[in-house]
Amino acid sequence: MKNRKHIVICEDAKTRITINRKWCKGCEICVEFCPQKTLLMEGDKAVVRDIASCNRCMLCELRCPDFAIEVSEGTGR
Ligand code: SF4
Ligand code: SF4
Repeated sequence: MKNRKHIVICEDAKTRITINRKWCKGCEICVEFCPQKTLLMEGDKAVVRDIASCNRCMLCELRCPDFAIEVSEGTGR
């Protein structure tokens, strides 16, 4: 079975942010571009600080050089 523990999903009713910790190299670009301060660094990996603050501007996903972060609509739960 494939180990997917490096995939971290954070979600609320509006937003889903998926971070691939294996691909994240800790460059902090996503954290610096996020206008809402939704993200922060925890050690050398990006993590979600406050999912509710995300406005789905997509800047983090667009700027990440390693395709390690994805933003989509939440599933409405
Ligand atoms: S921009 Fe991508 S590689 Fe850089 S810290 Fe953010 S998620 Fe990790
Ligand atoms: S989509 Fe925009 S607001 Fe949400 S975490 Fe990414 S940069 Fe921040």
